[in-house]
Amino acid sequence: MNPRLGQLVLLLGLVAMVVIRAPHARKSRAGKVVDDRQGRLEKALLVLMGLGFLVLPLLAMATPLLAGADHSLEPLAFGGGVAAMASSQWLFYRSHRDLGRNWSVTLQVRDGHQLVDGGVYARIRHPMYTSIFLYAIAQTLLLANWIAGPSCLCAFTLMFALRLGPEERMMLDRFGESYAAYRRRTRRLIPFVW
Ligand code: SAH
Repeated sequence: MNPRLGQLVLLLGLVAMVVIRAPHARKSRAGKVVDDRQGRLEKALLVLMGLGFLVLPLLAMATPLLAGADHSLEPLAFGGGVAAMASSQWLFYRSHRDLGRNWSVTLQVRDGHQLVDGGVYARIRHPMYTSIFLYAIAQTLLLANWIAGPSCLCAFTLMFALRLGPEERMMLDRFGESYAAYRRRTRRLIPFVW
């Protein structure tokens, strides 16, 4: 298949994610931060995500710098990539809508922060991270390059592994027993499974 086709779907997905997030980012900045746990590690992880999600894919698509790592795009990979991208976009949109003004790009609690346990948060605690994993899988399948394809999946796996504990600890400190009970009745990323 023409690799440009996979790149086109990836680009559309990338732009859609930025558009979905933009109004939330604006609102999130308006609330006063009362607990900030963004350490140096978290900052480094955000930079790594920028590389895996934006810089490397754009380099692979728009310049010949990573052309040595290009491979062919198989129809099966393309189909799987489109399916993963569509489900990722749906969940990304829904999780932003449900989290509302409680969303922030990093580990922060804001004035008037409320515990969200409804909508897509009813069965799993991290639906936004599920949607980002789906996006990273879509990128791996759609971008036929051995480096820039899996770059987001590598970066986000690391970020998720290192952020999950501190994020849940922060929520426990803020919401106490309510979050502990929420934790008992939900899974992390996949409903009924994990
Ligand atoms: N981990 C969640 C949220 C990602 S956004 C997800 O994957 O869907 C990160 C911020 O969301 C955290 O800094 C925390 O302040 C907030 N947050 C996480 N879970 C929350 C919940 N259940 N209710 C309200 N805010 C939450």
